[in-house]
Amino acid sequence: MFQDITTLLLDTKAFRDTIDLFVERYKDKNISVVAGIEARGFIFGPPIALAIGAKFVPMRKPKKLPGEVISEEYSLEYGKDVMEMHVGAVQAGERALIVDDLVATGGTLSAAIRLLERVGVHVVECACVIELPELKGRERLGEKPLFVLVS
Ligand code: IMP
Repeated sequence: MFQDITTLLLDTKAFRDTIDLFVERYKDKNISVVAGIEARGFIFGPPIALAIGAKFVPMRKPKKLPGEVISEEYSLEYGKDVMEMHVGAVQAGERALIVDDLVATGGTLSAAIRLLERVGVHVVECACVIELPELKGRERLGEKPLFVLVS
């Protein structure tokens, strides 16, 4: 059953409360990068980034970004996918928050963590609106903290 966040976006109070909960948690954590995962991480990531004074970095599907990219392959339930980020978007030593709408198996967030850590960025935490706990994505992230609003 697909969990759809678009109805949340129709409710202005619920959408604002969602963003505010993340902002409250991350505003004083010295985060300079919010990395949003295509596609629904692009909905929640930018308003959080603006509110906490961080830049927004899109983590995209292959061949979408126009500049030079670094890539990370990851496995899906059936097959593989690749995530890309612009070279030079982040600098070694920066502190990042990764944002997506939902964590299922944790494969997507793990790939984003690896991509950022390969270039020397410290991933402070991953933040999602929804977690599907039966798929044990949290375990796949190992030590990396995951914060969700709905489990
Ligand atoms: P994972 O890699 O298995 O954790 O899957 C998470 C990724 O798949 C995220 O980018 C989600 O946007 C997407 N996804 C998987 N299942 C759903 C769902 O039920 N609703 C919305 N997105 C989903």
